[in-house]
Amino acid sequence: MSMTAHGHVLPTYARSDVTFVSGEGVWLFDADGNRYLDCLGGLAVTSLGHCHPGVAQAAHEQLDRLWHASNLYWTEPMEALADRLSARFGGAAAFFCNSGAEANESALKYARRATGKPGVVALEGGFHGRTLGALSVTGQPAKRVPFEPLSPGAAFVTPNDVEALAAAVGPATGCILVEPILGEGGVHPLEPEFLAAARELADEHGAVLVLDEIQCGLGRTGSFFAFEQLGVRPDAVTLAKALANGLPIGALLVSADAPEGFGPGDHGSTFGGNPVACAAAVAVCDALTDELLAEVREKGAGLAAGLASLPGVTEVRGRGLMWGLELDRPAGPVVDAARGRGLVVGSAGETVLRLTPPLTITTDELEQALATLQEVLQ
Ligand code: PLP
Repeated sequence: MSMTAHGHVLPTYARSDVTFVSGEGVWLFDADGNRYLDCLGGLAVTSLGHCHPGVAQAAHEQLDRLWHASNLYWTEPMEALADRLSARFGGAAAFFCNSGAEANESALKYARRATGKPGVVALEGGFHGRTLGALSVTGQPAKRVPFEPLSPGAAFVTPNDVEALAAAVGPATGCILVEPILGEGGVHPLEPEFLAAARELADEHGAVLVLDEIQCGLGRTGSFFAFEQLGVRPDAVTLAKALANGLPIGALLVSADAPEGFGPGDHGSTFGGNPVACAAAVAVCDALTDELLAEVREKGAGLAAGLASLPGVTEVRGRGLMWGLELDRPAGPVVDAARGRGLVVGSAGETVLRLTPPLTITTDELEQALATLQEVLQ
């Protein structure tokens, strides 16, 4: 095994040589005292900005009361969070876990239990996590193939290809699992017609429609759930990333109208519903006000126009404050050059630059980010 200067960490990530030591709002600070405008938000996680005072206070207060009691008992923050999420969904029940992959594992198990059917139809380019079950339904061969054989039963169709979807969904399909905006796959929004077809096909064949809103949910597109703007009602939604603004948490939400699935003993997680993470997540839900969501839509429209006029950008895709820029060159060096000028952005594939800034970013800060990208891309 090769050893680097950071030799005691397994090399699963190609990390940049920067150590961040603190964060405040949209700003990150490194160990050398440099400051960076964070337009990645820890990969769509710190959506309210680093160390958001309301979320920090909620977590601190819970740290001083109770950290863990186990899922053999109720805790107040977990129930409060389930109530908040159910109200936003319009009637749903939650299972809590610790990450996005686990949320999708929960969804796959729920779908299997609810329908008794093993088939899962997912999307080419889709990403649902790195654990073996979530990886089996991830439509990115480079991530999947080295770990095959995986769980059988997955079929992949091209995003927005209604005919291919209709051909793939059949009597053995228990679950249709899609991201309303494919994130890791290059920021590709699904069209409302495609989601409407997914809803119809799921109903026709007795499958459940699960939306993975781990990256695009929780206000990122300018509504609490991305599906609210797409005219579809799923049977279940998975959440993680921004749910506690950076504390580890994941959730499966099952609609009150969806087929019954889980009973006692069917699923579990020692840390799932952790009181500190749930207290933080309640504060996140409360901070995602209608005003903030409207601002996200407005700032997003302005940002998209600015991004489209940058040199070397051939296409701009996304919604709200989740954008992918198709470049005429590799994205990696652009990410590095931007960071060298104090701007953190990411990539989503070889030639796609990704921006998922905190939802609280100001228009002045967005202008600053655009100016830096202009310099880097020209
Ligand atoms: N689903 C989507 C849409 C994601 O973007 C991610 C992570 O990027 C995951 C699932 C996996 O989440 P986690 O890394 O928390 O397991």
